[in-house]
Amino acid sequence: MIALIGQTTQEIRSLVAEAVGVPDYRGSQVAEWIYRRTMPGEGGGANASFDTMTDLPLVLRNQLAEHFLLHTLTQSTTLKDERDGTVKIATALPDGPHVEAVLMPDDKRVSTCLSCQAGCPMVCVFCATGTQGLGRNLTAGEIVEQFLLLQAQSERRITHVVYMGMGEPMLNYDNVLSSIRILTGEIGLSMRHITVSTVGILPGIERLAEEKLQLTLAVSLHAPSDELRARIVPVHRTYTIRRLLDACRAYFDKTGRRVTFEYVLLAGVNDRPEDAREVAAILKGFPAALNLIPYNPTSVAERFERPDNARVADFRRIVEASGVTVTQRKERGRQIAAACGQLVTELYKP
Ligand code: SAH
Repeated sequence: MIALIGQTTQEIRSLVAEAVGVPDYRGSQVAEWIYRRTMPGEGGGANASFDTMTDLPLVLRNQLAEHFLLHTLTQSTTLKDERDGTVKIATALPDGPHVEAVLMPDDKRVSTCLSCQAGCPMVCVFCATGTQGLGRNLTAGEIVEQFLLLQAQSERRITHVVYMGMGEPMLNYDNVLSSIRILTGEIGLSMRHITVSTVGILPGIERLAEEKLQLTLAVSLHAPSDELRARIVPVHRTYTIRRLLDACRAYFDKTGRRVTFEYVLLAGVNDRPEDAREVAAILKGFPAALNLIPYNPTSVAERFERPDNARVADFRRIVEASGVTVTQRKERGRQIAAACGQLVTELYKP
């Protein structure tokens, strides 16, 4: 059976018309339930069911239920950090593997972090997801459904999406892009409120630049030199920082969007003042911002230490002195294993 989540309204119209021979507007009604009634209590989105599509004739609802699935994920764990409102869910894909997604409300925005692969083949040394290896790519529907599951649990409308959950978006390029088109075109999110985070797969960055979308590209830099980066992010052995920066510059030239560089701070590894000076030197004058992420300890990947606040502040000051914009990731959901891939890797290790 075909799942309707992940299809555009146009596709749903054709699928429904073909399967049961009704006019196209019937498919639009189904799409309304899936993508436009996503808030808690509206009866659609993650809670959509053919049974409750009361604006469709009963006979048609029964026919649709024979041909189509609305959803494919099964939510298996929900954890809430009562202090900051962070909700983390683990969901099972139909064939077994689990992925996780996070809801992070704050004063101004409600953000979600979505997974695009079950597992990840990039094996960054500090990352919990990397210890799993690649299970498989998620479909666009499986990505969008994570969003809908979280929206169904949030009284406030989700405003921002980051592809910073499990997996490497550039290795599942087409499905990630289809999911973005549904989040913006169907559900109504602003393209500018979507961030795609990559370990730095150059062909993917080059391809995304050609799409000329107004989304934010985030690149996991994590080290200022080729030697150090190759140790932390093994895929870097095939690239150089020079080529990575060139690709990011081209991305800016094509899209007009500044790139965000993420930098996980690992105590004693890449957080020294000389590392900060090198980062400052390579990013000076670059159309970019640096996002510092103090390491989140996990029990599954190689162990590192989180630098103390003074160390983080020093690093920040040195980079800022060269005129580079620096932000710092707030730690959220510490009570609920919110570090990347941690929940699933600890609970459901394949
Ligand atoms: N594959 C994408 C998305 C990964 S998750 C990428 O590499 O960018 C998003 C960010 O979280 C990445 O920068 C990743 O390196 C970082 N991350 C993963 N595990 C972490 C941990 N334990 N502590 C802090 N940041 C982590």
